[in-house]
Amino acid sequence: MTVNVDLKYKKPLTGRYNKYVSRCLNCDHEFLRNSKFGTIFDNINGFNESNIGLVAIVECPVCFEKWFYHGYDHYDYFLDAVENGTQKFFGSGSGNVL
Ligand SMILES: [Zn+2]
Repeated sequence: MTVNVDLKYKKPLTGRYNKYVSRCLNCDHEFLRNSKFGTIFDNINGFNESNIGLVAIVECPVCFEKWFYHGYDHYDYFLDAVENGTQKFFGSGSGNVL
């Protein structure tokens, strides 16, 4: 499966691999239980390639720690979040005009 990530969404790989994708490695913030912080797709800071393939880099909305996870299944949802204006780093009003 190939996902062509737009260059404007590519960011340097930062942080650690997080197998508990819906829970922050640093502060235990859980996206599924704290919807006021937005979904995990709203908090994706960018995408990049790593030794496990494409990854989504997430910035925790509580402690601002960055970590990453497999990105293939995230990209479409991420684009939806951008389109809906809920995406924190690439949505409307974020300063990163599309
Ligand atoms: Zn956190």
